Amino acid sequence: MSSPIWHPFTQHALSGPPPLIARGEGAWLETADGTRILDAISSWWVITHGHRHPAIVAAIKAQTDALDQVIFAGYTHQPAEDLARGLIGIAPQGLAHVFYSDSGSTSVEVALKMALGYWRNQGKDRSRVIALEHAYHGDTIAAMSAGARGVFNAAYAPLLFDVARLPFPYPGQEAATLAALEAHAKDAAALIVEPLLLGAGGMLTYAPEILAQMAQICARHGTLLIADEVLTGFGRTGSLFACEQAGITPDILCLAKGLTGGALPLAATLCRPEIFQAHYSTDRRYTFFHSSSFTANPIACAAANANLAVWRDEPVRQRIADLAALQAQRLTRFADDRRFSALRRLGTVTALELKTADPGYLASLGPELTRFFATRGLLLRPLGNVIYVLPPYCITAAELDLVYDAISEAAARFG
Ligand SMILES: *Cc1c(COP(=O)(O)O)cnc(C)c1O
Repeated sequence: MSSPIWHPFTQHALSGPPPLIARGEGAWLETADGTRILDAISSWWVITHGHRHPAIVAAIKAQTDALDQVIFAGYTHQPAEDLARGLIGIAPQGLAHVFYSDSGSTSVEVALKMALGYWRNQGKDRSRVIALEHAYHGDTIAAMSAGARGVFNAAYAPLLFDVARLPFPYPGQEAATLAALEAHAKDAAALIVEPLLLGAGGMLTYAPEILAQMAQICARHGTLLIADEVLTGFGRTGSLFACEQAGITPDILCLAKGLTGGALPLAATLCRPEIFQAHYSTDRRYTFFHSSSFTANPIACAAANANLAVWRDEPVRQRIADLAALQAQRLTRFADDRRFSALRRLGTVTALELKTADPGYLASLGPELTRFFATRGLLLRPLGNVIYVLPPYCITAAELDLVYDAISEAAARFG
């Protein structure tokens, strides 16, 4: 059946009409006909505290009474001013400027443009980007270029630019990653990484020490380090930002998904003073030439300020620590289960791989699992055979049990 709406990452020839979601609250979604669905992947990794957190909803309502939208070139507004100060206050120390945009992909485009402008404005010929194997940085052209190549972007390959690719630092193979970085860093513009957790690449993790060593190599060669914390930011990996666990400050930091608690689209790209300074000139040619119509939308900024207040005023860190412990404990049940392999956890996120003859993303297993979980009232969306649980921080132990019982049942059926 053809649909007037063209849904993202959806093969309409293979999927029926999607559920019509009418309400959300806490860890739950509800369809128009009243069926409840447990949101075990935070509505594609964006909802942090839970759907419709009262403080965030109130801030959005209040802001709509004052100012909906205003041009952000040559104008400013209090929500954006407050948010910039707030973000600089909580981000790894040394980041001094905030550039707003609307999505994780655009925050990455902005980061890459900042890095290229930084070098060009100093008259230096450094434009190569270095990225990790299995990386995902979004679906716009530059973000796709930095991301792993595959079936997702094969059609667009002629538009994508070439990057230097580092092998993924699997445990025991980190030396190869670091050596490749050492070889490429000398004349590259920037290294872009997802700190500690590669999300769309299959929820792959690597150690904070490796991130710290990558940062050291970059610093030694003057290569800018871009940390794409679009997924990892706002608590997912156990700390507010994943970079904290490595004790590093990147040169450029990308934030989106959890920035508003997931309520509204907003992104921010933070940078060190040197990068702003390289664009600061009475010569207009050095201007940072980037904008989008809704840059720093006041309502989205108000939601983000409310999110920061939630982090200040509520025991969010404790909630995350408790959730991490619950997740770890539930994963142990599969430790000796031979139907699964590669069990892993970082902070609030767990992943495990269902053993199968054809584990590729295009194999029918992923969609079959997704459909099976839907019949159990669960929103889970495995990446091929990688089943992961990435819930909002308000999820309870009993709700998590529903998720892991269904995973066990899925193994019996599909394993
Ligand atoms: C989701 C994601 C993006 C893209 O964000 P969008 O808001 O979907 O454009 C970029 N980087 C990482 C690490 C992500 O997980």
